[in-house]
Amino acid sequence: MAKLAIEGGKKTVTLHPAPWPRLGTDEVKAVTAAARAARTNPSYLSSPDGRGIVGKFEERFARKMGTKYAMTTCGGGPALHIALMAAGVQAGDEVICPTYSWGQSVSCVLQVNAIPIFADIDPDIYTMTAKTIEAKLTRYTRAIIVVHIFGHPVDMGPIMRLARKRGIPVIEDAAQATGAKYKGKRVGSLGDIGCFSIGDGKQIIGGEGGLLLTNNRKLYERGLLTGHHPVRHYQITDPELKSWSDSLIYTYRMHPMAAVICNVMLGKMDRFNSERRRNYGRLTKGLADIPGIKPPVVKRNCEHVFHIYSPTFVPEEVEGVKREVWVEALGAERMPIGLGYVWQPIHLRRRLVRHAYFSGRGVPWTLHRGKKDIRYRKGDCPVAEARCASTELSIWGGPAWMGDQSKIVDQFLRAFHKVTDNLDVLRKRSKQKRK
Ligand SMILES: *Cc1c(COP(=O)(O)O)cnc(C)c1O
Repeated sequence: MAKLAIEGGKKTVTLHPAPWPRLGTDEVKAVTAAARAARTNPSYLSSPDGRGIVGKFEERFARKMGTKYAMTTCGGGPALHIALMAAGVQAGDEVICPTYSWGQSVSCVLQVNAIPIFADIDPDIYTMTAKTIEAKLTRYTRAIIVVHIFGHPVDMGPIMRLARKRGIPVIEDAAQATGAKYKGKRVGSLGDIGCFSIGDGKQIIGGEGGLLLTNNRKLYERGLLTGHHPVRHYQITDPELKSWSDSLIYTYRMHPMAAVICNVMLGKMDRFNSERRRNYGRLTKGLADIPGIKPPVVKRNCEHVFHIYSPTFVPEEVEGVKREVWVEALGAERMPIGLGYVWQPIHLRRRLVRHAYFSGRGVPWTLHRGKKDIRYRKGDCPVAEARCASTELSIWGGPAWMGDQSKIVDQFLRAFHKVTDNLDVLRKRSKQKRK
């Protein structure tokens, strides 16, 4: 039996995928060509009017994703902020969002001085469900933000039926799921507004940047008004909205070079995503006979795009082994695995529990429309809380998993087998840890 690296043995994993983001020759060529073109055509470096390369990229993105309109932004966070402004969410309104996400799915709510109301997650795919959302709806709910966490699509059908019945707009945070499909349709095109990120670590990148999608002309125009330069407001047809054009709000425009880079990447997106699926599929298959770990679930009619591979620790299968010790042993083999991604459910984070967001004066909670005192407590979202506390696992490097990575995957699997062969050593270490 091979000696564990944590006990001084040889490390199993020697190969690693190349880092991400990675620019291909095509991206470099496109950037160079754009820089040259900018000498005679300034719109290659500055296009606040949304014409030129930025407009072309928007058109192409919308077509690819299956919506009428796309709007570029300087990030996924700004896209979410614009979405809430466009949806008409106001100070003191309630917005339903997940506690199991990246912080920006929630900070956008605070940014408009609305009050986040947290809904629990599905234990298999870690996203909110129609059921968990319905439990949190009140007459003060003005929007729902769903997150396709890790790249797995939310079960949008029942959520949209519920939201339509109640007349509440649904915003999709698709920042981790560019290209993912739900029942044959792209995520981000299923709700009222979809928000994307093309920043560091996402499926396709532009350096920094984001996009917003919608089929609704009114929401599109309100978004333009919120985040784009007045020279672009010629696109606004609603005279009432147009009259606000002098009141510049946020400078959330995309850098044209980001559009140039991402426009090339967009053409490779489906290939990248299917290669990720193939590599992770090999890992999932190989993990079937490893005790202590349950691979991420992919639901029927869903195409997962794996921003992060997030399996679940199953303590019953490795009795006496602590999750920390098991992960530490794998880490020593140079397996890129961590204890968690979310770590602490957002509703239990200090600034929320203490109502101490930024200004520190109790805003937005003091502004509640019905004067309710909204508090966040342990037990509000038991599934998400339990996952963070004891079963969450993450395997990093998602977007880098393109091409054929089977050699690396096989090394990863060897590391899992080695750790499995040495569970007794880990039991001993777990006991020591307890003392
Ligand atoms: C990355 C990310 C964002 C923010 O995108 P930026 O481009 O970094 O502003 C928002 N939500 C989720 C779920 C993300 O993963």
